[in-house]
Amino acid sequence: MQNKSLKGKTALVTGSTSGIGLGIARALAAEGANIVFNGFGDAAEIAALQAAVATEFGAKTFYHGADMSKPEQIADMMAAAAREFGRVDILVNNAGIQHVANIEDFPIEKWDAIIAINLSSAFHTTRLALPAMKAANWGRIINIASVHGLVASTQKSAYVAAKHGIIGFTKVTALETAQTGVTCNAICPGWVLTPLVQKQVDTRAATGGISNEEAKKDLLAEKQPSGEFVTPEQLGALAVFMCSETASQVRGVAWNMDGGWVAQ
Ligand code: NAD
Repeated sequence: MQNKSLKGKTALVTGSTSGIGLGIARALAAEGANIVFNGFGDAAEIAALQAAVATEFGAKTFYHGADMSKPEQIADMMAAAAREFGRVDILVNNAGIQHVANIEDFPIEKWDAIIAINLSSAFHTTRLALPAMKAANWGRIINIASVHGLVASTQKSAYVAAKHGIIGFTKVTALETAQTGVTCNAICPGWVLTPLVQKQVDTRAATGGISNEEAKKDLLAEKQPSGEFVTPEQLGALAVFMCSETASQVRGVAWNMDGGWVAQ
């Protein structure tokens, strides 16, 4: 208990009701941080996730259901988090969606939603979190980008544009805070088997007339040389490192954890 490195800190993780965000929230809670959860889902299931984190790690938790495509709801969430815990010390911009289609067929409303949720929401949370972080001279901002912030794939125009954008935004945030105790970095995962990717596995299985397991293998074989998924727990451990004092000079990086995807 006494060795928990983030005791007394508060972490707000957007999109933490599922997948990578939940993995990161759990890893930060295990280090003693209070957690502000955000994301969609069944109210009873979200309450159960909060209760599990509180019981397992002794963490204080709070939930706000802000839609990350809506700046006024984001502002309300940031104000509620500050009211609840005094300040947000660690901000993890993780909420994200995907849509797969060729550019000429890409629905305009999907483009707008992906840019709003995967990119603009990080501007809104960051602009609202920075004053208190700067005043405290301590803060950690971690943007969950993707290998698609570093390289492209077909049919993911909005996603690739948003993820390249968030890496640029990460660098500007890191430069504007360079002489403070606030750091900002991006994490770029390869394939992680979350609901977001399971949808792509399902489509591949259906269109190829293959099993779910074969579809997973094909998906990995195409891009991820290790042939294995990255896990939310591994990404959580990287986030904990970025929050540590050892990482205080890690600034403005886009750190891929991708089974070798970007090395090719
Ligand atoms: P997921 O679908 O499991 O989780 C997404 C989370 O975001 C959920 O909690 C969902 O409720 C929330 N969310 C979606 N739209 C929202 C909105 N408008 N407002 C608030 N919350 C919203 O997906 P995941 O795979 O865990 O993805 C998390 C992040 O990781 C995303 O930014 C994604 O682009 C990125 N990422 C995922 C992978 C992967 O392989 N799964 C790889 C690289 C990057």
